[in-house]
Amino acid sequence: MAKLTVSDLDLKGKKVLMRVDFNVPLKENEAGEVIVANDNRIVGALPTIKYVIDNGGRAILFSHLGRIKSEDDKKGLSMKPVAQKLADLLGKPVTFVPATEGPELEEAIAKLNDGEVLVFENTRFEDVKNGVEVKRESKNDPELGKYWASLGDVFVNDAFGTAHRAHASNVGIASNIAQTAAGFLMEKEIKFLGGAVEAPARPFVAILGGAKVSDKIGIIENLLGKADKVIVGGGMAYTFDVANGKKIGNSLFEADKVELAKELIEKAGDKLVLPIDAVTADAFSNDANIEVTDGDIKDGYMGLDIGPKSIDLFKKTLDGAKTVVWNGPMGVFEMPNFAKGTLEVGSYLTTLEGATTIVGGGDSTAAAQQLGIADQLTHISTGGGASLEYLEGKELPGIAAISEK
Ligand code: AMP
Repeated sequence: MAKLTVSDLDLKGKKVLMRVDFNVPLKENEAGEVIVANDNRIVGALPTIKYVIDNGGRAILFSHLGRIKSEDDKKGLSMKPVAQKLADLLGKPVTFVPATEGPELEEAIAKLNDGEVLVFENTRFEDVKNGVEVKRESKNDPELGKYWASLGDVFVNDAFGTAHRAHASNVGIASNIAQTAAGFLMEKEIKFLGGAVEAPARPFVAILGGAKVSDKIGIIENLLGKADKVIVGGGMAYTFDVANGKKIGNSLFEADKVELAKELIEKAGDKLVLPIDAVTADAFSNDANIEVTDGDIKDGYMGLDIGPKSIDLFKKTLDGAKTVVWNGPMGVFEMPNFAKGTLEVGSYLTTLEGATTIVGGGDSTAAAQQLGIADQLTHISTGGGASLEYLEGKELPGIAAISEK
């Protein structure tokens, strides 16, 4: 079933509640004012915001910003500088209301004209009331979702990064309003991440890396059931090596996951593709002594990247793929001497003809950006935890709450 998107809505004259992801880093300028340090997320939300106002909607924007556990936390986490940045980027005034509820907010909304934009205060200010942590936003207080829903006519959710959580500002509002639609960013995440796990063009190859098996078990298990091949690299491959009876020296591994790795190896057969060599070092340092080995790893050495034979094997495995999902680096890519595996495998994705290539958040997004290939891949997910849970095959409450077409 397809989800309703913002372009399906009749927006003219409507009060459009918009949950955006304005959880941006802040900093102090020389005058001691708090300003936005990086506006990527605000820029990312512009297409949906512009669409709404260009079509005569009255945009009422809100987002969480940081974590609020005490009244003190509220001081540095107001949405005011974010609203200012948005006004600069839109090139038009934005009304900022320093409240999350009450007459000031309601009156400002009543005064909005078609095509105008309002931003209200950090939704997580509702998590602390009179100094007490009540988590009205984060625990989806039913009264709060109902109240926010009452402020608008329709709801557009464009904040994928919180879709794995049921909060008042996503699920709460959606449960109390006639129509909830995905914004363009959310629509893209559903199309690519959702599409890959639900109906991928085949062959479908997943590349999983990163430090720990325990962080990625859910994804490995889900994708072993869906993908044609699952490549495992990075630190987590050594737990599989131990399961296969190899010696791994001082490499990262999780003793309590060896049995599980054995089960996965048995279940997966040739679907699971593991590294066949490693770049090893005698210390966790870019300046360590380095040896490439395709056998057991020597005592005193640790595997910090996949070796050249593994790079070739992984490239061959990727040949002809029509869908690729990549999550996690192949080695300690932050250190230049151990970045080659991640670099070569990541760059290879850009050469696959006719393939949909998807990066699933977190460190692999950083790696794609570091490699300068981000704009040559089909989709880079904006969600960390949300993309992991999506790839695990879980239903995300924020997406489930969006209306069907
Ligand atoms: P994750 O957050 O699980 O995607 O893990 C990313 C981190 O895993 C990066 O900081 C990498 O440096 C680290 N990593 C990847 N391969 C290895 C390895 N062989 N040994 C230690 N850490 C690794």
